[in-house]
Amino acid sequence: MSRIVKSSPESFAEAVKILRAGGLVALPTETVYGLAADARNDEAVAKIFKAKGRPSHNPLIVHIFDPADLGKWAEANEMAKSLAKVFWPGPLTLVLPKVTDELSAIAGANLSTLAIRCPENKWSKAFKELGFNGPIVMPSANRSGHISPTRAQHVADDLGDQVDLIIDGGECDNGIESTILKIEKDRAVLLRPGVIPVEDFVPYISDLRLPEKAAQTSAPGMLKSHYAPKARVRLNAMERRSGEAYLAFGHTEVIADMNLSASADLAEAARNLYAALRSLDKVEVIAVAPIPPHGMGAAINDRLRRAAADRD
Ligand code: AMP
Ligand code: MG
Repeated sequence: MSRIVKSSPESFAEAVKILRAGGLVALPTETVYGLAADARNDEAVAKIFKAKGRPSHNPLIVHIFDPADLGKWAEANEMAKSLAKVFWPGPLTLVLPKVTDELSAIAGANLSTLAIRCPENKWSKAFKELGFNGPIVMPSANRSGHISPTRAQHVADDLGDQVDLIIDGGECDNGIESTILKIEKDRAVLLRPGVIPVEDFVPYISDLRLPEKAAQTSAPGMLKSHYAPKARVRLNAMERRSGEAYLAFGHTEVIADMNLSASADLAEAARNLYAALRSLDKVEVIAVAPIPPHGMGAAINDRLRRAAADRD
């Protein structure tokens, strides 16, 4: 099995050694645990696709350690620069034109654009001090299509011995993935709802297209079924049927197996979502209470819809 080690200066030094040698390290971020490899090393990047069982047409997000590095890898217009200034380091991914072929072509699925973000975390400063400035590619550290990991043990459960080292930084603060925006001149398209709700972009983007149509047509690899437990998922459930596990939200009269947030706090619900789906995944059907659609609820509902989607 993969080794899980506590987040520490020693574990960061070991992680850098592994990344430099073309290995894979699972790292905690503010969103979920990521599976990292050197973004310039084709062989290392190929190991990520293999370990996850990820289709090669699903491109990886490139992660930088310093917002100022954005221009090295992507063409950033004024809108992109101001978004990076406000939201980085943080859970926002920008899709922009690529400016260099230095990064592994496999990582980008041969697209002319690049998905890039600067995550909030405890390790990149140490990595930089050790002379490793990235960039790294880092999808979520789970089997493709399964539930994203928000604890170190989830990574070990999913990827077994395919990871060289798992850094344990405890529970992820946000618990769901980054918001992805594609920047097209003076407008932005929401490719994936995420931690930062669209409402927060209003002061910075005058023309922001919303998810429904955009997400299905323009984000490669955004599969209908994703984030899925083995159990079937029944949405907007107002009652618990026989044989079901019930996942509640807020105050409820239903006898619940778990509650995403007893106080109906959407940020708490997002933080608990994937761990709850993993731990209830022993029944045939997980029935989930309705989740309000506003704020972070948009991303939670997006993940639940994909968890509930038909699997072909
Ligand atoms: P994840 O599996 O959480 O790392 O998500 C990565 C997602 O980023 C992919 O599923 C794509 O939808 C999106 N993505 C990555 N690169 C691009 C790109 N160049 N253009 C559009 N979407 C991208
Ligand atoms: Mg993922």
